[in-house]
Amino acid sequence: MKCALVTGASRGIGRAVAIQLVKDLQLHILINYASNDAAALETKSLIEANGGTAELLKFKVENAEEVKNVLGEWINTHPDHQIEVLVNNAGITKDNLFPWVTESDWDQVIGISLKGMYNVTQAVIQKMLRSRKGRIINMASLSGLKGVPGQTNYSAAKGGMIAATKALSQEVAKRNITVNAVAPGFIASDMTSELDESELKKMVPANRFGQPEEVAHLVSFLASEKAAYITGEVININGGIYG
Ligand code: NAP
Repeated sequence: MKCALVTGASRGIGRAVAIQLVKDLQLHILINYASNDAAALETKSLIEANGGTAELLKFKVENAEEVKNVLGEWINTHPDHQIEVLVNNAGITKDNLFPWVTESDWDQVIGISLKGMYNVTQAVIQKMLRSRKGRIINMASLSGLKGVPGQTNYSAAKGGMIAATKALSQEVAKRNITVNAVAPGFIASDMTSELDESELKKMVPANRFGQPEEVAHLVSFLASEKAAYITGEVININGGIYG
């Protein structure tokens, strides 16, 4: 069975990506999330309402032991399932001006957004390499390209993710595995719900925040056969704010 693993798929962009991958590519979806069981189950119901199948894989992406125990174990016990698409989407923000960024806030943001990509990709890539087929899509951010004041930790994590995307893409291209990053600007989700959209949208040439579904269409294209010759790219999706 062909599968897609989407980290942070219980809400927001990850949920929209999971649903789009079902609609476009009919993949069995592994819904990863950290703690919100109700939201993850809702994603599963939405996938099923779209004629797809899914299961929940609850683990914290930054925790190497948990990733091994839950994802590694799932891979070992499902030899007939192939994760062909991995979307490293889980991410958090802990914004503050640099002098007030605590070590814990630094470590959490880097841990989830950057080390999480390492942990999860390590678990999945061996089988991709053996089967000579795979798509890895990393959810970066405008912050990782431009650098955003008040987000040194998040900019560092996303910038690191972009550099890792470029490096890994060159390692695995011969095996028909593409590795790309998507860099959204302001997207309406729980992550941005506290922001003043009416004020911030003035910075965006398109004069609005993007929708998770708009990001999901881009990810789904990168995951498709049509995108076979695109690798090592960082694709902006930001309403013209930066590019
Ligand atoms: P969101 O609505 O806050 O959702 C975050 C998702 O990540 C949830 O499914 C959450 O699971 C999961 N998650 C959090 N910590 C996790 C962990 N330790 N392990 C596994 N999963 C974890 O965020 P979003 O706006 O959809 O953002 C998704 C991605 O896009 C992030 O990487 C973010 O940095 C990036 N991004 C977002 C924007 C934006 O404007 N929204 C812009 C640029 C980039 P639970 O439900 O269990 O908490």
